[in-house]
Amino acid sequence: MLDLTYETPKPRVISGATGDWELVIGLEVHAQVSSKAKLFSGASTQFGAEPNSNVAFVDAGMPGMLPMINEGCIALAVKTGLGLNAQINLSSAFDRKNYFYPDLPQGYQISQLYHPIVGEGEVLVDMGPGVARLVRIERIHLEQDAGKSIHDMDPTMSFVDLNRTGVALMEIVSRPDIRGPEEAAAYVVKLRQILRYLGTCDGNMQNGNLRADVNVSVCRPGDYERYQETQDFSHLGTRCEIKNMNSMRFIQAAIDYEARRQIALLEDGGSVTQETRLYDPDKNETRSMRSKEEAHDYRYFPDPDLLPLEIEQAWVDDIRATLPELPDAKKARFVTEFGMTEYDASVLTADIDSAAYFEDVANGRDGKLAANWVINELFGRLKKDDRTITDSPVSAAQLGGIIALISSGDISGKIAKDLFEIVYTEGGDPAEIVETRGMKQVTDTGAIEAAVDAVIADNPAQVEKAKANPKLAGWFVGQVMKATGGKANPAAVNALVAAKLGL
Ligand code: ADP
Ligand code: MG
Repeated sequence: MLDLTYETPKPRVISGATGDWELVIGLEVHAQVSSKAKLFSGASTQFGAEPNSNVAFVDAGMPGMLPMINEGCIALAVKTGLGLNAQINLSSAFDRKNYFYPDLPQGYQISQLYHPIVGEGEVLVDMGPGVARLVRIERIHLEQDAGKSIHDMDPTMSFVDLNRTGVALMEIVSRPDIRGPEEAAAYVVKLRQILRYLGTCDGNMQNGNLRADVNVSVCRPGDYERYQETQDFSHLGTRCEIKNMNSMRFIQAAIDYEARRQIALLEDGGSVTQETRLYDPDKNETRSMRSKEEAHDYRYFPDPDLLPLEIEQAWVDDIRATLPELPDAKKARFVTEFGMTEYDASVLTADIDSAAYFEDVANGRDGKLAANWVINELFGRLKKDDRTITDSPVSAAQLGGIIALISSGDISGKIAKDLFEIVYTEGGDPAEIVETRGMKQVTDTGAIEAAVDAVIADNPAQVEKAKANPKLAGWFVGQVMKATGGKANPAAVNALVAAKLGL
């Protein structure tokens, strides 16, 4: 299916006073499940609702309330696992992770430490045409999100909003296979792309629907290879975890800062303490938040309110049958089917709506020309207006119509751009517009010949110059195009100008 070959990118190397250092990064991505209801209650997950309006008794930790599992969330987690080529565990279980926080009224978070629903998978992280890294996924588990404490609304009081409490999150844990800041951002981009294709998480980072804990360590050249051979973590440096990152730019800046901080510490004869840190974008630095807690600090134990989760292979197979064509496969197909570059295929498959739009435009038409028009004209124009493909004023049928007119020779490329602008701003059927506004390309050589003759007759001095220097023939072509309002067939004009000038 995936027949694109790729080479592996080089790890980021930072030169220190005592030699070179390499970066090792592992990400824990929290992706909010695209579900209308919470993981264990029927309360709504709607973003931006009145504070504390989406709260069931069980979300508020009321005594005697029991969690009820939301089957839809389980199905979406399974779908995510399948989309990441991962092992689906037919038996999994929920555990209580005990800690107190005002926005976690139960006093514990329901999570899956020991038996996650999804096991090992993989993500191919694109670093540019022909360059990619395969990052292994360790596991995906389901867990509850916490609510939100608000400390900046009142000088003397704090508030709590429990709307988010109990919303289903998938925690997608990577192996420490990511080797630089750009790769970390590209990993999140690719993961988000796949989740959006699958429709299992909307990936909106601004709303906090996708956030990452970034684990960073540094090691000497060769150490990572030794780790890979043995899977023995002692070959790697001690890691720090930077919590809750929700911007690609900050992820990169935080990793860069953190790696340099660790290198400076180590080169100074110190050691890295495993801890949880926070990134401050205003100061561009990370600072210690708390020492790293271990699983036993939370006294995890199987949640006695929830039975172990058993799912059937047949149900998993049904979900597998609903998987869409995923980005890697679609990209490879676009390259082979339409003969476009890998770069163009990446642009067109960046999101599923753009890919579908393109395929509608290209259907039965020149694929390369269609790719060109979608990427250069349409995307460029939409970007200018801050619009997305889903609210494009030019439909795929309309753009397809324009392309058909170019292919049939009815309009030139230049006129096509004017036509595109008309369709974009006024709407309408491209063929009809061309007809009613007289935009058809003039292929009638008689008419073109007359225009060429007129330009030659009006410019005897230029004719002499062009005869001495054939490069100047282009000037005549330009004049004829101008005289015909850009409608003359350029190939015919070129040929006639050359013939008339005796070039
Ligand atoms: P926890 O949940 O306690 O943070 P995990 O074992 O789940 O611990 O691992 C968290 C993340 O840390 C994983 O993504 C893993 O790949 C990453 N990680 C582990 N060791 C290192 C290391 N030496 N350097 C960078 N990342 C690491
Ligand atoms: Mg962690």
